[in-house]
Amino acid sequence: MQKYISQLNEAQQLPVLQKDGPMIVIAGAGSGKTRVLTVRIANLMSQGVDAFNILALTFTNKAAREMKKRIADIVGSNEAKNLWMGTFHSVFAKILRIESEKLGYPSNFTIYDTQDSVRLIGAIIKEMQLDKDIYKPKQILGRISSYKNSLITVKAYFNNPELQEADAMSKKPRMGEIYQQYVERCFKSGAMDFDDLLLKTNELLNRFPDVLAKYQDRFRYILVDEYQDTNHSQYLIVRALSDRFQNICVVGDDAQSIYAFRGANINNILNFQKDYESVQMYRLEQNYRSSKNIVEAANNVIDKNKTKLDKIVWTSNADGPKIKVHRSLTDSEEGRFVAATIFEEKMRNQMHNGEFAILYRTNAQSRAMEDALRKRDIPYRIYGGLSFYQRKEIKDVLSYLRLVINPKDEEALVRVINYPARGIGGTTIDKLTIAANHYKRSIFEVMEHIDKIDLKLNSGTKAKLTDFVNMIKSFQIINENQDAFYLTEHITKKTGLVQELKKDGTPEGIARIENIEELLNGIKDFTEGQKEIDGARGALAEFLEDVALATDLDKDTGDDDRVALMTIHLAKGLEFPHVFIVGLEEDLFPSAMSLNTRSELEEERRLFYVALTRAEHQAYLTYAQSRYRWGKLVDSEPSRFIEEIDSQYLEYLNPQDSGYRYKPLMDVDVFGDIDKSKLRLAKPKTGTPPAYLTQDQPNPTANIRRLKPMTSNAGSSNVVDANLAVGNIVMHERFGKGQIVNIEGIGADKKAEIRFDVGGLKKLLLRFAKLEVI
Ligand code: ATP
Ligand code: MG
Repeated sequence: MQKYISQLNEAQQLPVLQKDGPMIVIAGAGSGKTRVLTVRIANLMSQGVDAFNILALTFTNKAAREMKKRIADIVGSNEAKNLWMGTFHSVFAKILRIESEKLGYPSNFTIYDTQDSVRLIGAIIKEMQLDKDIYKPKQILGRISSYKNSLITVKAYFNNPELQEADAMSKKPRMGEIYQQYVERCFKSGAMDFDDLLLKTNELLNRFPDVLAKYQDRFRYILVDEYQDTNHSQYLIVRALSDRFQNICVVGDDAQSIYAFRGANINNILNFQKDYESVQMYRLEQNYRSSKNIVEAANNVIDKNKTKLDKIVWTSNADGPKIKVHRSLTDSEEGRFVAATIFEEKMRNQMHNGEFAILYRTNAQSRAMEDALRKRDIPYRIYGGLSFYQRKEIKDVLSYLRLVINPKDEEALVRVINYPARGIGGTTIDKLTIAANHYKRSIFEVMEHIDKIDLKLNSGTKAKLTDFVNMIKSFQIINENQDAFYLTEHITKKTGLVQELKKDGTPEGIARIENIEELLNGIKDFTEGQKEIDGARGALAEFLEDVALATDLDKDTGDDDRVALMTIHLAKGLEFPHVFIVGLEEDLFPSAMSLNTRSELEEERRLFYVALTRAEHQAYLTYAQSRYRWGKLVDSEPSRFIEEIDSQYLEYLNPQDSGYRYKPLMDVDVFGDIDKSKLRLAKPKTGTPPAYLTQDQPNPTANIRRLKPMTSNAGSSNVVDANLAVGNIVMHERFGKGQIVNIEGIGADKKAEIRFDVGGLKKLLLRFAKLEVI
């Protein structure tokens, strides 16, 4: 153990060596906060603290797994196995399962994911005959989520005239009713949504002193990573659990607080000292992650924020290369630059794909990056898009599994009751839903008693409903006798799901079957793993819980070598040798939606700080002068965040850019006397991106084609390749006929010199000039 402690600097050793009492470590990015937590846990164990008595809360389950692995390296894996580690959601979901009956939930409660919640809210809005353009399901869910995270229950909502007024003012006077309906429907379905996992834990600890005492006694040492992003609900759980022993260690960085929009409360850090007597505050100042240029540039940026704790971050690492700034014309070109740079670095410096990360503000930006990486055959992985488990065919299979575990699960039921089609129509489902609401029962229960309730269904329909009930019950019996893999395979066959997809026969259908096979592999892995651990049959319920709380980050085994693509929000806590921060444009990053108040802008700046501090060796800041957003091509200016970095740390890759604010698109002489305003890639009609040429994929046999504007289907590229040769006679939209006398430049910069019959010699940038070979 001593060895590991001596590998820490003095400041890092202090919070490791203080065994008891409350403590907070506030420190900048890359200063070893997470490492301190890891060594601290190992040290507690080496001093005789039972792993059972330690609870560590992390930002992702992957982070928890990695931490556990490191601790296992130090203290041995048998010891480390019993540690409670994971995200708030996964840890408290487990506790809720043990205690759920106290709250009136079955222990096999379902966890609704966001898709389930949004669909349910949509259904409620429809049933209440409200305007879904005013009551937007996603927005409503956001509101409900923020109530829950502030512990505002339905009852508390109706006791709070101010909240009701605020909703009425925003044209949603029936918000409270929706909230109430939603909560009731979830409860009736034996389901909790993500926020319930925290809300109900709070309820549990508040209402049942004996339960609170039990877990206080159990979790004698509590540690929280990324404390700056805990919300009120999480904060209260931590405070309640640590109240008895007060052995609580939280680490965080106020400058990296980036989840305020989801209710994270930076005051949790600021108030920590008030909440616990005799709290020890530690600061770490040395950054071990990044080169000096990056550390200083990041300091530059965060200095611009007014609301912050004063902190010093320095490093003894080498200066490293300057941060590279790259401007491109369009988002596709930005993608090509990133892909080309990765390609070159790999060739020149023998780097691995896994050493690169591409970080962006919004998920939509990944498309241009993906296109470019694919063209260069660079393997990549996107994190945080539609997760594997949310794909339609996977959710269909999972819905059957969920029904096996919890037949009350309404979202699962509605999803598969008539898929594959078995003649149970929408009207029937509506009748069932109304009856279920009336009797305050689940739809499944109504179906079980369909003979005793008069829903004016014909006997054929009733028989179909009974068949469905019996089929689910037969799956339940199998589940008691076989493992999850056997059951799932049986379900995919018995329900006709796979046959349905086979019938489809399209490539998409085949891909879906492959996904189901992949799911089966995953279940097999899981059941095998379970057997190893406790010799038991793989527990389906546990698998489903893992799935419900899985994020893409968790799936990453790190086995294969891929470039990582993710939003900055997801990149928290991670590090990569080379980091591209793309789309650094005003209104995109900082986001247009956060320019209203200073505090919103400061959150964007913290986000940029997080992004920049992920880089160990080289950071790239890229932006495009125009990009497609909401189906339109919009012009953009470089982000203010680039300017906020002292130019001594920057290297502008487009040389004329250094120290500039906003330059015209390109050198004037390139266009001859063309009206330049017409050349801007500005706002063509929606859906018709401009056609332009590129020489990325030369095709020696092709002569020039007239370029048709392509539709902006997601996935299709708006780049068309074509070839021109000296001597070609061409037609130009404005200048008429001419002959090519010279071609120079490559790729996006390729230009042709053309002698026009009228107007003489002109040099045109091919990407813009609409030429037709005649
Ligand atoms: P973030 O704020 O981004 O979460 P952090 O403060 O948690 O960062 P760590 O991830 O723990 O920082 O550490 C950053 C890097 O520095 C890691 O690669 C870690 O192994 C390394 N590191 C931390 N402390 C030391 C040390 N004393 N000696 C050498 N390397 C260290
Ligand atoms: Mg960390």
